[in-house]
Amino acid sequence: MFKRPAPKKFSADELQNITQASAQQTGSMKVQRSYDPAYPVFEIPVNSKVLAYVPNHTITSPDGIVSLRMDKFAAHNCQSGRSYQKVRCTQGIVAPTLGLDGSCPLCDALPDVWDLVHKDYSSLVRSKGGNPDDEASRETYKNDYYAAKNNMAISQPQVYVTFPIVVIDCEVRDGMATSTPKKNPDGTITGTVMWYSCMYKTYEEKWLKALETAPETEDGQPLSPAGLWVVLDYTYPSKDGKHNKMDSARKLNVGYKAMDAGYNAWAQAFDNQTASWTPEKAMEVVVDNVLRDMSEQQELADSLMIGTRDKLAMYNLGVATQTQAPVGGVLGSASESLAAFGATEVPAQIAPPQGAPQAVPQQIPQTNPAGVPQTAVQMPTGVPQQMPQGVPQQMPQQMPQGAPQAVPQAVPQGIPQQMPQQMPTGAPQGAPQQMPQGVPMGFPNGMTGIST
Ligand SMILES: [Zn+2]
Repeated sequence: MFKRPAPKKFSADELQNITQASAQQTGSMKVQRSYDPAYPVFEIPVNSKVLAYVPNHTITSPDGIVSLRMDKFAAHNCQSGRSYQKVRCTQGIVAPTLGLDGSCPLCDALPDVWDLVHKDYSSLVRSKGGNPDDEASRETYKNDYYAAKNNMAISQPQVYVTFPIVVIDCEVRDGMATSTPKKNPDGTITGTVMWYSCMYKTYEEKWLKALETAPETEDGQPLSPAGLWVVLDYTYPSKDGKHNKMDSARKLNVGYKAMDAGYNAWAQAFDNQTASWTPEKAMEVVVDNVLRDMSEQQELADSLMIGTRDKLAMYNLGVATQTQAPVGGVLGSASESLAAFGATEVPAQIAPPQGAPQAVPQQIPQTNPAGVPQTAVQMPTGVPQQMPQGVPQQMPQQMPQGAPQAVPQAVPQGIPQQMPQQMPTGAPQGAPQQMPQGVPMGFPNGMTGIST
């Protein structure tokens, strides 16, 4: 039984507030997207369309190219239990006041993440009587590989963009939203400013591509969405009449809409209203965009990696327990297994294999920066005495200087390596259409992993 909480006394106002708020509770968990309610984040609607205005804030590059002002950044999709979140990558960012030296603890953890993918894959294949090292059977077990990859605690970073849009209240006909603004009795329209986020690839392939067919402005064909009205069409036909957020996101069709001159004053007002919606603000308030300092980033990486490192330790113990009488059950939790060995956990250091594919060649620091904690793996100290002779020493003591840090390790050869091939090189990133068909995206509906 839970302890009975102390009886509470409420004022009449408090009681009314509590009752009203309670009546609106839905019981479903809402993913927090913004740390500041004054700066909400746009949620992808299911099978619906939205009229929005893109505030006219631009930046001009040194060579004179005008583009939409936006927060463009790389982020890791991360999962912890059933929670999913993007974590901004700090690779290449040098900001001494934040302790950032160009490295990223999440990138540094990727070799372990890939190591577990490989071990999970091998284990799945062996459980089905296959040989994970047999090149010829790779196709047979590819779904096992994707299943192993779906459990990655930290993904390779992908590039995203975030900018403000003003979502306009529109008329509804036959239960479906239209792109006709709803006029209030006093003739005004209602617009809500929100952050819009998508993969950079989506921005290029949908938002920028659609500019070719956008209505001409006084200056000719627009070169950026800034100052344009846009219809975000998430509708799509569904055979069984059921629709979901992920498919809605995938089916997004972006089209720019010519509006009467009467709307120019509204556009101007929205431009003024969004002056503070800068990339710096996005970095401050949008959960997915927040830039962490080095200690926050390291702490987060460590906590995200607990499960991965526990499982890796368990696999490593599995080698020993198979040649001895099983102690405490190999398939129990790693900490139980460790306890059974009378072991305590100490961090050891791991070196990525030589000649491993370089996922982020241009971003790898030349030397391992001093003061940056190295990728740690939990290894039991008590184990070696009890391990049979000949168990391979998997953990070299020293990280070689200048060794690539964010290198996928032990990815099965011959298996489609989507992640490494799509590493950011300043180019558009992996999109849903590059994911294997019929394979889950890894981020369920409603989670922040969907931002197509
Ligand atoms: Zn990173």
